Amino acid sequence: YMPVVIPKLRSEFINHIQDFSFQEIAFEIASAFLYDEIPAVELKLIIDEVINFPAPLVQLEDDLFILELFHGPSMAFKDFGARFMSRIMSRYFRKEDKELTILVATSGDTGGAVALGFKGVENTAVTILFPKGKVSPVQELQLTGNGQNIIAIEIDGTFDDCQALVKQAFLDPDLNEKFRLTSANSINIARLIPQVFYYFHAFAELKKMGETDLVFSVPSGNFGNLAAGLIAQQMGLPVKQFIAATNVNDTVPVFLSAGEFLPKSSVQTYSNAMDVGNPSNWVRIMDLFNGDVSELKKELSAFSFTDEQTLEAIQDVFQKHNYIVCPHTAIAWIAAKNFQKNNSGTNNTIVCLSTAHPCKFPDVFPEEIRQHIAEPNQVKSLNSENQSKISLKNDFDNFKNYLLSKRN
Ligand SMILES: *Cc1c(COP(=O)(O)O)cnc(C)c1O
Repeated sequence: YMPVVIPKLRSEFINHIQDFSFQEIAFEIASAFLYDEIPAVELKLIIDEVINFPAPLVQLEDDLFILELFHGPSMAFKDFGARFMSRIMSRYFRKEDKELTILVATSGDTGGAVALGFKGVENTAVTILFPKGKVSPVQELQLTGNGQNIIAIEIDGTFDDCQALVKQAFLDPDLNEKFRLTSANSINIARLIPQVFYYFHAFAELKKMGETDLVFSVPSGNFGNLAAGLIAQQMGLPVKQFIAATNVNDTVPVFLSAGEFLPKSSVQTYSNAMDVGNPSNWVRIMDLFNGDVSELKKELSAFSFTDEQTLEAIQDVFQKHNYIVCPHTAIAWIAAKNFQKNNSGTNNTIVCLSTAHPCKFPDVFPEEIRQHIAEPNQVKSLNSENQSKISLKNDFDNFKNYLLSKRN
């Protein structure tokens, strides 16, 4: 799904954006999409509840900033999408409706954000599929320690397998007959809209500092975050360039250089939330450019990096700035550095989106860095005692039978 038109923000608003708070900016954007669907007073309340944590911009170098998007409950930027979506969905629930069954595939971070976003939300039941053994301990606790309306299923397979099972479930007549199914993956547009908020928020903060010529470096997997950035640009955000930064799951960088979109099986890397071989938001990005690849290439550069380069970047940032980036953010950082090298002599202010807190990926860091990672309150409150998960093989009929027998 895509909006029929991408609404433009009023230019007076953009020109004075530095005078508005993060929540006010979010409200302006959300109402541009929703028109009169939700009364303003109510929408304001939803936004204030969703955005109850900051997204600080940290300056590491003259022309290089980190936008920290990991201060929400699951410590990943996906909290923005999940929190907004859960509130919007429950708002539209009517008494005569069947309980809403949310199916979601996760490579690590989506599941935690969705679980914490929907936990205890009435009339919703969440089933999360994650690839067995491929998520970190903190991530697994966020998935399996919830109880209530949240069920976690580990699949003996990859993230792409989980995503394929979910997609097939949505097409299955029996499951659709029994359940009111919906998705919480970034194929759901309600997750993308709140991601537009922080691009404008970053712009407002940089405008206060007199920074211009903005470039956003976006660590990408399913490409929802980048799609949101491109939507922000079409709404009127002045962005000079976007950088798509991937790990070796490089379907998009290969497409932009070789011209062919060849989905492949995902490969496991240190930046596991980006281990996606067939990014589901790419069709949205192509749609934003009416399928015109040469127009898209004017706005977008793409780079991919290996695990070794990821590790080097983590060490580099730590040594130079005494700052610890998660492996995904590290990839955005190297991409930014490469972009700077290729564009020396032009003025660019690069913002690397920092998508998760480093404590979610402890195994990636060498001990001398890991010991400096602070433990946020969100980790302290995780419950390691009441974990529960279901284990299934990678087989649709098996998954379907489980759903039909367990959920009602
Ligand atoms: C999900 C995720 C990404 C990738 O975001 P997409 O919108 O799927 O491209 C990057 N980093 C982290 C930490 C994530 O959780």
